[in-house]
Amino acid sequence: MLEDTPTPFPQHILLTPGPTPIHPRAQRALLREMLGHMDPEVFALNREIQADLREMYGTAPETFTALLAGTGSLGMEAGFANLVEPGDEVLVCVNGSFGARMAEMAARYGARVRQVTAPLGEAINPADVAAQLGRASLVAVVHGETSTGVLNPLPEIADVVRQSGALLTVDAVTTAGMEPFQMQAWGIDYVYTGAQKCLSAPPGLAPVAISDRALARHAARRTPTPLWYCDFGGLRDYWVDQSYHHTVPVNLHYAFHAALRAALEEGLSARQARVQNVSQAILAALAPLGFTPYVTDRAARLPTVLALRLPAGFDDAAIRGALRAREISVTGGLGPTAGLIWRLGLMGEAARPAPYRALMTALEDLLG
Ligand code: PLP
Repeated sequence: MLEDTPTPFPQHILLTPGPTPIHPRAQRALLREMLGHMDPEVFALNREIQADLREMYGTAPETFTALLAGTGSLGMEAGFANLVEPGDEVLVCVNGSFGARMAEMAARYGARVRQVTAPLGEAINPADVAAQLGRASLVAVVHGETSTGVLNPLPEIADVVRQSGALLTVDAVTTAGMEPFQMQAWGIDYVYTGAQKCLSAPPGLAPVAISDRALARHAARRTPTPLWYCDFGGLRDYWVDQSYHHTVPVNLHYAFHAALRAALEEGLSARQARVQNVSQAILAALAPLGFTPYVTDRAARLPTVLALRLPAGFDDAAIRGALRAREISVTGGLGPTAGLIWRLGLMGEAARPAPYRALMTALEDLLG
C-alpha cells in the first residue's frame, strides 16, 4: 500500500514534469541557520552528499561526485564544456527536445555533431548508435526524454559505446533516484540530474558524477575548459581539496542533503516500484475517460513522466485551465505534441496516491 508523506504545509498539486513538490524534510532543512561555504560542518555535509550520490548513481567507490550550483541544464553544459574540444566528433541521440538541446550545446563548444534520431514517441535503437559511432570521442544520450515520455534503452546503448572506447554522457534528469541506474556496471562517464526532479529538492542544484576516464580526458585537454564556473579542476578544488572556488548555495545543500537521505532511507528499489505503481494506476484510471498511452512500446514508457494521448475533441487549454483553478497543475505537449498529449510528472513526491486521486476526482467532475 502506498503512503502519502505528511506535509506541514497545504500543497498545490504539482503534476508537472518538474519541479516536483518539495519533500517535507527538505522544506524544513531550508530553515536551518546559515553557515559559511567553507565551514567544517558544511564540508562534512558535502562529504555525506557525495557518498549518497555515489549510492544513487551506482558508481565505483571513489568516483567523484558533486553538486553544481545551477539547474539540470548546467549539468548538461558542464559535461560538454569539459569533455569536448573544438573539432571533436560527438554523437548525440536525439528523440525529443532535450536530446536536441544536447546537440546544440555540444556544437556551441566546437564539436562536429552527428545525430542518431528516432521518431517522436519512440526510443533510440542501440543498433543505430553502433552504426553511426564512427570516430566519435563522446556519445550523449538522454535516459528519460521528458518531452515525449520515452525511456531510452541506456544499458544497451552504453554497451555499444563502451566497445568503441568513446566516453558516454548521460542526462538522468527524469530518472536518477527513481529508475534503475548503474553508472559503474553500465560504463557511464558523466551523468547529471536536477535537484527538483526525482529527489523533490528545490531547484538550483545539478548533482553530477564523473568517471576517472572522464577526469583523465579533462586533464589531457589541449585547451582550458571554456566554462570556468564548472571546470572539473575547479570543482575538485572545492569538493576534494576544500579550497575556495565559488560560494556554493549552502541552504540548497541542506535541503538537497535531506531529500537525498530521505530517498535512500526509503530505498531506491522501493521508489522504482512506487512510481511504477502510480503510473500504471493512472493509466488504468484514465483509460475510461479516453486517454491512451502516447508511447506504444511498453518497454520504452517512462513511468516518471507519463505521456498521455488526449481523447478526441478534448479542449486541452480549457481543461488544464480549469484544473489550475482547482490548484492542480498538469503540463501539455511541447512543440509538435502540443494539443496532442499531456505529460504528467510522477517524480519524487508527486508519485503518491493523493495527487493522482485529486486529479481523477477533478477530471471526472470536469469531463462528467
Ligand atoms: N534534461 C531533461 C531530460 C529535462 O527534463 C530537463 C528539464 O525539464 C532538463 C534537461 C533541463 O533541466 P533544467 O530545466 O533544470 O535546467
